[in-house]
Amino acid sequence: AYINQISQVDDRVGAYITCTSDEALKKAKEVDDKRVKGEKLGKLAGIPIAIKDNICTHGIKTTCGSKMLEDFVPPYDATVTKKLKAEDVVILGKLNMDEFAMGSSTENSYFHSTKNPWDLSRVPGGSSGGSAAAVAAKEAVFTLGSDTGGSIRQPAGYCGVVGMKPTYGTVSRYGLVAFASSLDQIGPLTKDVKDMALVLDHIMGYDPMDSSSANVDYTSLTKHLGQDIKGMKIALPKEYFGQGIQEEVKTNVLAVATLLQDMGAIVEEVNMNMTDLALSAYYIISSAEASSNLARYDGVKYGHRANEYSSLLDLYKKSRSEGFGQEVKRRIMLGTYALSSGYYDAYYKKAQQVRTLIKGEFDEVFNQYDMILTPTGPTTAFKCGEKSDNPIEMYMNDICTVPINIAGLPALSMNCGYDQQHMPIGVQFIANAFQEARLLQMAYAYE
Ligand code: GLN
Repeated sequence: AYINQISQVDDRVGAYITCTSDEALKKAKEVDDKRVKGEKLGKLAGIPIAIKDNICTHGIKTTCGSKMLEDFVPPYDATVTKKLKAEDVVILGKLNMDEFAMGSSTENSYFHSTKNPWDLSRVPGGSSGGSAAAVAAKEAVFTLGSDTGGSIRQPAGYCGVVGMKPTYGTVSRYGLVAFASSLDQIGPLTKDVKDMALVLDHIMGYDPMDSSSANVDYTSLTKHLGQDIKGMKIALPKEYFGQGIQEEVKTNVLAVATLLQDMGAIVEEVNMNMTDLALSAYYIISSAEASSNLARYDGVKYGHRANEYSSLLDLYKKSRSEGFGQEVKRRIMLGTYALSSGYYDAYYKKAQQVRTLIKGEFDEVFNQYDMILTPTGPTTAFKCGEKSDNPIEMYMNDICTVPINIAGLPALSMNCGYDQQHMPIGVQFIANAFQEARLLQMAYAYE
């Protein structure tokens, strides 16, 4: 049924880069045979899923939405892929994304853009636009995305699905193609909160293959669903409801707060004065890390190689010039500049100091509150092409999501209504580090 749905709608939605329907059917049959024979099956047996194209899948192309990796077939599975395979999921294919996860609209893919299933003239958000659109258009039961500055939550909000970035370090990044290693996190996109808890239960956990993996106790998240939220304290930071926010977004998110209050939660307004520094810090830090991470694409080891070149330096230059798109080049140049001698103190070091202040401000709020409630983004999904010529305006869109990555916190976006154009509105729940159980408990109570 899902393969059928993909063939019916994906030429319009464009969620997939690679569809592996033959292998998927084979796997589905294998699961079915095992079931008939009464053999032991994984906990997610037979569930058709799809994976963002920056997460390695053994034997299946992993392009990162880039010409640079157009023909790259990983010889290994990412830890998350391995874990899901161990539970017998059926992999339907790989999902479209902004090149190397840089973008907020999935218009930066080398292959094609993805459209919002609610209105094909609008973007699905990004960079995990394919992952969100696939769930919204019923082209997969759940998907995996990656979130460096909002790339799971913002598209989830735009497409009316549930998307979550877990605490930094709780889902292994082994096999996730690096964008900004200190910010990147893998997370699921699902149709509801229960699915979210279920998928997270299977992909979270310590992994010695990821040096930043958190070696903590991982308790079952599904277990916490359904517990009441009476007495939980929720903070509403004024700065997230200010200038530039669409009126309907504000009204609907505030209505969520009222509803939770009716259920026994305590809601209070707070100030988070560092909020407007987050964007600049994010774009310096993420671009600096990207410029270093993307140095590996030199046309020698793997990835695109220019056909003709006169020297080694010329090979590097031509391969990178041809292989990377405009936005990726912009970030590499920005990051290289911020790290270069003479500018390092003024930009990179400053941004790291701001990062510490932002983290400190979240710590302070979480000393008194269990949860922070904000919009996922200032507006609902914008029109295709509307911001593609204006990188600054595109970056501004990330205002509500980037502070969370800077602080390494878990956050979930889910639907909280529609605007007058019938576009979904996203609400964001933010919890303290390693409090995903509480986060899901509250999201589930609201749902
Ligand atoms: N939109 C942000 C950026 O372009 C976030 C991307 C992401 O989370 N991968 O950097």
